[in-house]
Amino acid sequence: MIGLYVDHISPSITTLGPGRRIGLWVQGCSLRCKGCMSVELFERRKASYFSIAWLTERIISYAQDHAGLTISGGEPFEQAESLKELLENIHKYTSLDIMVYSGYTKEELLKGSQAMIDLLNKVDILIDGRFEIDLSPSKPWCGSDNQTIYLLSKRVQKYRPMISPNQYIPPFSLQVEIADDDYVRIIGIPRRGELELMKTLLLKRGIELKR
Ligand code: SF4
Repeated sequence: MIGLYVDHISPSITTLGPGRRIGLWVQGCSLRCKGCMSVELFERRKASYFSIAWLTERIISYAQDHAGLTISGGEPFEQAESLKELLENIHKYTSLDIMVYSGYTKEELLKGSQAMIDLLNKVDILIDGRFEIDLSPSKPWCGSDNQTIYLLSKRVQKYRPMISPNQYIPPFSLQVEIADDDYVRIIGIPRRGELELMKTLLLKRGIELKR
């Protein structure tokens, strides 16, 4: 069975990309950026391996009233072959645009394996580059200022005003999701120090955040 290591899927996210989106977080990343806020996704877990068919159905079930699918992680391009298959299905059965976060730069991806290049060809919006904790972000949806937002396909050019420096949408907003699996997740790009502040304030109210 061809499949993908996926941590979770969340519908109705509005903090990682333009419009209302479905978020998909993959497991596994060898890049290990200092200060990464997703360290629990560094390793792949056997129990989190899902078939492409199942993932396709799940995403289709959420697709109505969503503008796109945002894929983060973990490092999506480290499962390039399987993810490419999933995105082929998403393009075939939905009108969702596809936004992907990668710790690899676009140049690195273009010099990578054929599977990486094929996957890149299925992506509409790419945010590329390692997370650099010392480079605070000033652009929407980016974790650090070294990262670049690429609008790769024709259909996402309508978002160009949102990423032009004079018309940035507010880059910092966070969502809190209380998910079916009993996890509470913070979705979005926090400002530096914001997570620690949130933990401290919640602890004062008797709520301990594990991570
Ligand atoms: S590439 Fe992304 S998931 Fe991987 S370590 Fe860097 S920030 Fe974390």
